[in-house]
Amino acid sequence: VSSENQQILAASEWVVKLYHHLLRFTKDGKKGYQYLKDRGITDETIDAFQLGFAPEAKDFTASFLDKKGFHQQTLIKSGLLSQRDDNGVSDRFRGRVIFPIRNHLGKPIAFGGRTLTNQEPKYLNSPESELFQKGRMLYNFDLAKKHIRKQGEAILFEGYMDVISAYQAGVQHGVATLGTSLTETQARLLKRYVDTVIICYDADESGHDATYKAAGTLQKAGCSVKVANLTDNMDPDHYIAEFGGESFWNDVITSSLTFTSFYMRYLKKDFNLTLEGDRINYIEKVLEHLAMIDSAVEREYYLKELSNDYDISMESLTQQIQFHRQQKR
Ligand code: ATP
Ligand code: MN
Ligand code: MN
Ligand code: MN
Repeated sequence: VSSENQQILAASEWVVKLYHHLLRFTKDGKKGYQYLKDRGITDETIDAFQLGFAPEAKDFTASFLDKKGFHQQTLIKSGLLSQRDDNGVSDRFRGRVIFPIRNHLGKPIAFGGRTLTNQEPKYLNSPESELFQKGRMLYNFDLAKKHIRKQGEAILFEGYMDVISAYQAGVQHGVATLGTSLTETQARLLKRYVDTVIICYDADESGHDATYKAAGTLQKAGCSVKVANLTDNMDPDHYIAEFGGESFWNDVITSSLTFTSFYMRYLKKDFNLTLEGDRINYIEKVLEHLAMIDSAVEREYYLKELSNDYDISMESLTQQIQFHRQQKR
């Protein structure tokens, strides 16, 4: 690590402490504290994730770090300060709840800040740097890894609040991609610890698309994929707040779908299954996917489902899947 990066790491540690202290113990941080309380987050969780609050003032952080002797250029590079047009600098994070982003060693390398109002962007993150490359790390991996090993699986979320709510509810083997699509590097990182990954993205259209993509990336890295059984239009954090951690564990995580099951549902969006032609095309697409499954038992399981749902004989389905399996060779 270069000496400038050392400085950035040191400044980040100071800032984690500063923002956390403000949130927990001061009048300036009260708004942020209340916001988290309203979302059901406990003091214990706030402390475990070192959540904080960045005050509105435009140079609060700048003057704090200046007094500690950090160089302005270094701080701009770290993204804690932004250069303004008039040659001055100002704090990057203002009036936001702060989520420190830790690397795999538990050192803070970046921050996410959530607005308390409906200001855009909803989340403001530190810019990418040598130290912080979003696509090369996973949020909460440092705390989750021992639980991932113990559980023999990892849960992949979209956002900070999903990871944190799940953790508070006792589901501690969760990590997040922070809203961007899962990279091969991240998939390989997970594969080093575990064979099975449960994708638990938001159950909306973009979450389903992202699930499909992430599943492909994970499978390519050699992971076996399951998909959490989340109610439509929910996100995990919202589900936990509404139905509690026990239901989240039993009805969402333990009831995860196989990837094939997810895919058979997901594909339906491209077809109008009341039309005969679409129905046939849909079945063909599913068969193409099933043809790639090596286990005969598993293939037959889904073929039966197709056979029942669309009233097609197992004989025809089997014949057609053999055709696809030969094509594949
Ligand atoms: P909340 O529950 O606080 O409303 P969320 O985590 O459900 O937030 P989503 O909109 O589902 O928010 O986004 C998922 C993740 O994507 C966020 O946790 C954040 O890391 C990232 N993200 C969301 N909006 C932005 C943004 N405008 N810029 C950068 N990253 C973002
Ligand atoms: Mn979303
Ligand atoms: Mn969400
Ligand atoms: Mn949410």
